[in-house]
Amino acid sequence: LKRHLIKSKKLEAVEQMGAAISHEIRNPLTAAIGFVQLLQDDNIQKHKKKEYLEIVKNELISAEKVIQDYLTFSKPSLNSLEILNVKKELLHIIKILQPIANRNSVEIITQFSAIGFIEGDLHKFHQCFLNVMKNAIEAMPKGGILTVETEFSRYEVTVIIRDTGMGMNKEQLERLGEPYYSTKAQKGTGLGMMVVFSIVRAMKGSIQVNSEVGKGSAFLFTFPKVLPSYKNERF
Ligand code: ADP
Ligand code: MG
Repeated sequence: LKRHLIKSKKLEAVEQMGAAISHEIRNPLTAAIGFVQLLQDDNIQKHKKKEYLEIVKNELISAEKVIQDYLTFSKPSLNSLEILNVKKELLHIIKILQPIANRNSVEIITQFSAIGFIEGDLHKFHQCFLNVMKNAIEAMPKGGILTVETEFSRYEVTVIIRDTGMGMNKEQLERLGEPYYSTKAQKGTGLGMMVVFSIVRAMKGSIQVNSEVGKGSAFLFTFPKVLPSYKNERF
């Protein structure tokens, strides 16, 4: 009973975040609909039409960004726990991000130790590391190196995402994960790291961040390892 209670509390937190995020998507969509309705007027002046279309475009871009940070990998069904092959899933994210990395002159280096498994929701795991790696690339506007590393100990799996980017000062580090906290102005949502913290918490993991302004950052994620006795014969 105790275990169940803890689990449902965690699900609740994730669901609450879902409600907050859908609100963030609905607001710009509602605004866009309003301006489309104004545009349906046949007698609208040309300069007004241009202005409204610009607003509609910006509102849609804003909704799209929130979806990118939260729903890229979501699926319509309920949260499902699976046994995840950490190396395989990280390679999947790297493949998705490779074109963005290339465009930004970012080289991605991997350093995987032995194979390790953790328990979690596959789509949320993808969403989490997509957000962290996207931030790493965005922290290196002049290019650099993104390192994806794994370490396995007896009971834990650690994933380390390093960049050689701009780093964070004390305030930025403290505010990391705060909803709507972004230093990227129009280009950011400030929701990415909140999503990351929430997913990692739901997966019973923890996050440690080391950062130095002008040098780069390292995000360390530690998850409980799935022990061999729990493993499916497929592995
Ligand atoms: P967004 O990316 O939309 O700004 P996030 O929640 O993903 O929002 O990140 C919040 C803020 O944390 C960023 O705006 C940035 O200031 C800081 N940040 C996150 N990751 C890094 C990183 N790897 N290097 C430097 N700053 C980072
Ligand atoms: Mg981000």
